[in-house]
Amino acid sequence: SIAYFNGRFVDSDDPVVPIDERGHQFGDGVYEVIRIYNKKPFMLDEHLDRLYMSAEAIALPFRQERESFQAIIHQLIEKSGLDNLDVYLQITRGMAPRNHLFPDCPVSVSMTAKPFRSIPAELREKGAKAILHPDERWANCYIKSLNLLPNILAKQKAHEQGCLEAILFRDGSITEGTSSNVFVIKDTRLYTTPLSRHILAGITRMAVQQIAAEAALTFTEKHVTLEELAEADEVFITSTTSEIMPVVQVEEKIIGAGQPGPITRLLQEKYTVRTSGAARH
Ligand code: PLP
Repeated sequence: SIAYFNGRFVDSDDPVVPIDERGHQFGDGVYEVIRIYNKKPFMLDEHLDRLYMSAEAIALPFRQERESFQAIIHQLIEKSGLDNLDVYLQITRGMAPRNHLFPDCPVSVSMTAKPFRSIPAELREKGAKAILHPDERWANCYIKSLNLLPNILAKQKAHEQGCLEAILFRDGSITEGTSSNVFVIKDTRLYTTPLSRHILAGITRMAVQQIAAEAALTFTEKHVTLEELAEADEVFITSTTSEIMPVVQVEEKIIGAGQPGPITRLLQEKYTVRTSGAARH
């Protein structure tokens, strides 16, 4: 499939990244995953805002003008020949002999374009299971950093237990999933973890917040305890690639009626309307 590395379009199998690359050696960079529906990137501005913010937060001198950067993304979409795709993009501190100190070299920009990572329709219809896992990540999870080792280890554990996601907790309250934000519904009210350094400000989370406002649903940012999670009427997770995914079991506890609830369904429908371009975004 088509990819991009530092100024040229390549095949994603081409060996273009040298060994002395800081993304490869240190995970010294930041990334985004953007979903393109029917050739239209969904919430591109929000993703780019977050990318520039993440780069700045790790003092990565990514100075490319937004317009020319966007133009490359659009070229990649065009060259992919796909209508519906996921664009992965990462910026690293560049290519320089391995040394912890910041090098004096240009940053590296890479992108890939892949068909939608398919979410089994059955999971979306019937809901997914999750495990609970201590949040063992660093204190700056608001940065979308390439360093994902704790996320990978927790997600793998979930997978080995037949679950889709690991819901992370810190000090008795949930933070987020390994690659998703977590929402809880109780008595028709929607709750999610407040934004802080401990979670990523998910773009899908933002979309759900906007949809909730339009649908006159009460949306409250609050630290949800593990007890409150277990007692929830509905739970769902959100991410660019999972969209809105109902969670019907956490560890041994069945959530609500054990199937996706009405508010989750409503939000899923409204999210689909947005992504299909029928609504302003
Ligand atoms: N939280 C973490 C840790 C993530 O890695 C992700 C996405 O991969 C999310 C939340 C959801 O973010 P978004 O909705 O922007 O995809």
